Amino acid sequence: MSQSAEHANIPVRPVFNTLPSYAAGKPPTPVEGLTQYKLSSNENPLGPVPEVARVLAEFATAHRYPDPLSTALRQKLSARLGVDADDIVTGAGSLGALNQILKTFAGVNADGVQDEVIYAWRSFEAYPILVGIMGARSVQVPNLPDGSHDLDAMAAAITDRTRLILVCTPNNPTGPAVTESQIRAFLEKVPAHIPVVIDEAYFEFCAASTVPEGEEAPLNGLDIYRDYENVIILRTFSKAQGLAGLRVGYSISHPQITQHLRVAATPFAVTALAEAAAIASIEHEDAVMERVSHLVSERERVTARLRELGYEFPSTYANFVWLPLGERTGEFVQLMAEHALSVRAFGTEGVRVSIGEVEANDRFLSLCEVFAKGL
Ligand SMILES: *Cc1c(COP(=O)(O)O)cnc(C)c1O
Repeated sequence: MSQSAEHANIPVRPVFNTLPSYAAGKPPTPVEGLTQYKLSSNENPLGPVPEVARVLAEFATAHRYPDPLSTALRQKLSARLGVDADDIVTGAGSLGALNQILKTFAGVNADGVQDEVIYAWRSFEAYPILVGIMGARSVQVPNLPDGSHDLDAMAAAITDRTRLILVCTPNNPTGPAVTESQIRAFLEKVPAHIPVVIDEAYFEFCAASTVPEGEEAPLNGLDIYRDYENVIILRTFSKAQGLAGLRVGYSISHPQITQHLRVAATPFAVTALAEAAAIASIEHEDAVMERVSHLVSERERVTARLRELGYEFPSTYANFVWLPLGERTGEFVQLMAEHALSVRAFGTEGVRVSIGEVEANDRFLSLCEVFAKGL
């Protein structure tokens, strides 16, 4: 290792100099005398239900490779969702599943021309990184002032280089959901050769929400994908089921697409432990949904109080709330940190706060009351 004194210049692909790095939600800083709460990653603070925790504790086959096709999980999902097991492709989280989709459809061509991937912005932070690393070009379409996708502008952004469109509903980090009539109107404008991903990471929170009178319910991707061969549904066990640490998610689409996703999939990405926990979560869906309902009622309590305090923010169908605080974002994050709460700041745009334990939500609200004096 005689050259070790000097670092060799090991070339990486040029795209690496242009990528933002994923800034994961940070754990809270400890404060003497206060329980810390992490409200920065949209995790389920209650964790997996006891029946699933038991399956995890009893797991005994860590020395065996998992089934690379997650057959048992896909069969379980197939029966539960009423879709063909062949239409389901699992991945290490829905990010793993999304990675398969990007690898399949978007990159840079031999002549140097980049494929284009359209998505709303702000949206999920992982999108620009995953698109960029493939060498494809992100086409970011600004959200409407209420934090919802501008689907008309997204349709208008389609060019002959568009290879993929990502729709995030409810949108992370802003909260609004897309409705069935909105997505159908949008899909009518999208050429049939362009796949449209509907990222439903927070689907269960929509399902457990009461729709205000006079409003249309959030879409259910399953009702859409049957009618469109270019639609890909993305779901995960990370949020509602409380399995973020185990990494298991999946996509649902037609064989014309799934045949390629299976090739793009990282072998053995879904561990046997994650598969067993996901299956148990489906078997104990009632218990899972009870927890989801509790979190939704906490979300309703938090948002009602925030409105009383004078905060203005988009409607949310997920397990988080977006506060567009602009220049005061940093000050807000600091106040929360001083009281052992970590929240997620996005520059000088705003803050995303996950719904947490009751005590965490209470502390958050009382700090919001203090902060509101300066609103
Ligand atoms: C949390 C989240 C995911 C899920 O990621 P996993 O890889 O399944 O943990 C996907 N999409 C969005 C929009 C999310 O917020």
